[in-house]
Amino acid sequence: MTKHPDYEHMVRSQIAGRGIRDPRVLSAMREIRRHEFVAAEQQAHACDDGPLPIGYGQTISQPYVVAWMSELLDLESDMKVLEIGTGCGYQTAVLAKLCAHVYSIERVEALSRQAAINLRRAGIRNVTLKVGDGYDGWPEYAPFPRILAGAAPDEIPPALLGQLAPGGILVAPVGPPRMQQMVRVRKRDDGTLQHESLGAVAFVPLVPGEQRGSG
Ligand code: SAH
Repeated sequence: MTKHPDYEHMVRSQIAGRGIRDPRVLSAMREIRRHEFVAAEQQAHACDDGPLPIGYGQTISQPYVVAWMSELLDLESDMKVLEIGTGCGYQTAVLAKLCAHVYSIERVEALSRQAAINLRRAGIRNVTLKVGDGYDGWPEYAPFPRILAGAAPDEIPPALLGQLAPGGILVAPVGPPRMQQMVRVRKRDDGTLQHESLGAVAFVPLVPGEQRGSG
């Protein structure tokens, strides 16, 4: 590594500096070491203010976006969370610091395997990973009080809305490339849904199906 990543500076300038206030989110962002989730040649860029490639045409989100989505979820420490798009496991690790258990689905088997290695190395145990199609959610563990998608569907998959618990919150980028919005959906206790659009974002698309093998 040519440059030592400075997480304190990253949090102060990119995250707290842009309005993220939740102290639990800020401390998770200080604690989880992004450079441990990316390939050696990316490690010097771990605290850069942008996305990083993780292979298979996928990217790890900008640190600010990881923190913002984590704050939007309004997590409590006894909750379980469903995450769609494990990627390298970085967002998974941040969520795992903020809740009781993360169930995370990734369509690319090789990424899920690497995420398992990264999470184990980071000492994070309250996660369950599977290779599968996030469009289907994870019915065995539903309902979920919180759901987060790290890739953008054109519309929120109905299975995910179905697996959201009453009183629950889902956060996802939604829309076709270059027209995505960050969306937060709240399910009221009577089961009706309230959607909020929170601003333009750029994510990789949520792709149906799964990809087994080394890719
Ligand atoms: N937050 C992740 C990065 C997410 S990138 C991290 O911290 O690394 C989006 C991920 O969603 C990619 O790994 C991509 O393979 C995955 N993905 C795309 N479509 C999917 C689907 N239908 N089901 C599950 N995962 C999917």
